[in-house]
Amino acid sequence: MNEHSSHVKSFCILGGGSAGWMTASMLQHVFPQYRICLVESPEIKTVGVGEGSTPALKSFFELLGINESEWMPQCDATYKNGIFFDKWSENQGYTNYFHAFPSIIDNHTLPLFMHNSTARVRGIGVNANPNDYFLTAKLARENKRPIAQESFPFEINYAYHFNSAKLADYLRIRAIANGVVHVQAEVVSSELSVTGDIAKLILDSGDSIVADVFFDCSGMASALIQKALNVQFSSYDKLLFNDSAVVAQTCNAKQNIGTQTISTAMKAGWKWQIPLTTRTGNGYVYSSRYVSDELAEDEFINSIAADSKIETKLLKFKLGRVNKHWHKNCVAVGLSQGFIEPLEATALYLIQQTVGKFIDYWQKGQESCEYQTKFNQEINFQFDGIRDYVALHYKLNSRTDTNYWQDSRGGWENMSDSVLQLVDCWKSGQSIVQKVKELKLDQHYPVSSWFTIFSGHGFYPPANKNVVAEQQKYDLNKLAEFIRRASLNFDSAQ
Ligand SMILES: Cc1cc2nc3c(=O)[nH]c(=O)nc-3n(C[C@H](O)[C@H](O)[C@H](O)COP(=O)(O)OP(=O)(O)OC[C@H]3O[C@@H](n4cnc5c(N)ncnc54)[C@H](O)[C@@H]3O)c2cc1C
Repeated sequence: MNEHSSHVKSFCILGGGSAGWMTASMLQHVFPQYRICLVESPEIKTVGVGEGSTPALKSFFELLGINESEWMPQCDATYKNGIFFDKWSENQGYTNYFHAFPSIIDNHTLPLFMHNSTARVRGIGVNANPNDYFLTAKLARENKRPIAQESFPFEINYAYHFNSAKLADYLRIRAIANGVVHVQAEVVSSELSVTGDIAKLILDSGDSIVADVFFDCSGMASALIQKALNVQFSSYDKLLFNDSAVVAQTCNAKQNIGTQTISTAMKAGWKWQIPLTTRTGNGYVYSSRYVSDELAEDEFINSIAADSKIETKLLKFKLGRVNKHWHKNCVAVGLSQGFIEPLEATALYLIQQTVGKFIDYWQKGQESCEYQTKFNQEINFQFDGIRDYVALHYKLNSRTDTNYWQDSRGGWENMSDSVLQLVDCWKSGQSIVQKVKELKLDQHYPVSSWFTIFSGHGFYPPANKNVVAEQQKYDLNKLAEFIRRASLNFDSAQ
């Protein structure tokens, strides 16, 4: 591609993983009049993992006007009711729990959950495990899809599992058909202008690409934002220890496909199991400070009951984020801007947020860069907020088997002040509802999720068996019956 000068605005995206093609799809949809090109190396592989989403992925497809019936079958996608955390706690009655995406119907059961959780903190021996309070927890246990029969008057909030390579392929074909120019070449260097902006990308073919804005979707290479523009990276390693993953695919074991991600604690990290229509994705995310790659692989293979000849892939990563996601005329999206380990499957959500906010500010700023500072503050706030929620899983663990888990409980001083205040409020036995709002923690996770993480780990003092008064306030049998009846409106996944 030769240099051109024209008044038509142009965007260039470097990288063709999920981040690149999601960015291209959103930009092309909102700015169909712009010249948009995506350059990716046929030699440098995409990371090829990332198979779980948050409910926000629904709005990505809605923005593009794509129905589930169109994209899901092409990406082997399944529905995700939530995440089941297994063996993160050794506290009796709390060795596993389900983290739901709250829905309107949970308004019937959440007050009971919040009441009982708070009572339990005060030592009253009531059941406060989230497993028993959310309809989607039951749907997930029964491998049911979160899609209700038509007569059921409530919509259920859910997310997806999908094959990430197929998702990128699907978006690529669609984006090219809609006019995005696809260049297959390696970017070998870039040239800066006198203002310090990126002037052009130089390709291995000798050609170059000029554009008004460059999107760095080059994955962990972070070729533009960190390498060309020297933007600093803030590490999360004081709070999050994991830096490696070993992944493998297995056949679906059950007849009915699961409808939840399962996250099981291992000796030096945790393992995911993600059901797709054609296979199950598995991965062990661990800290190489506590286990060697070889031992981690052995533990992983044994845990998925797989043959040692199974094909595994090793991945290394660093957790943290760049300090500026939009700098000069470059916006970093995806792994190039940072990574929070995949415990809550938030990476695609952050991609959507980054591109969505860029679009808002680019439109408001009449194509100038006046909103960069605000944009960077907001994206940093989102990254750090999710990091805190993910880190809280480790701080609240009560496993005693390895140094990894014991050390993970330390270092509270590195947690944000807001989370420390919330923990104090929880321990005091006051309801945390107001506190979550006051500290703006609901901008990262809803109130129900904060109750869930504390309760799910059994972060309680010992129960006082003599105090039973509050136990009678709610009839848990009625609650179970309500959830059972509601669940009859849902079908099993195929
Ligand atoms: C172990 C693990 C588990 C994960 N699980 C989840 C999950 O469950 N849910 C979730 O949302 N996210 C998850 N993620 C994150 C998710 O995989 C990524 O956020 C997502 O795939 C986006 O990756 P990317 O497009 O930024 O980078 P990549 O997939 O690495 O793509 C980089 C692209 O840049 C191109 N490129 C790089 N350098 C050059 C160059 N010089 N010239 C030309 N092209 C170049 C490559 O060819 C490639 O196309 C996980 C990540 C890891 C590591």
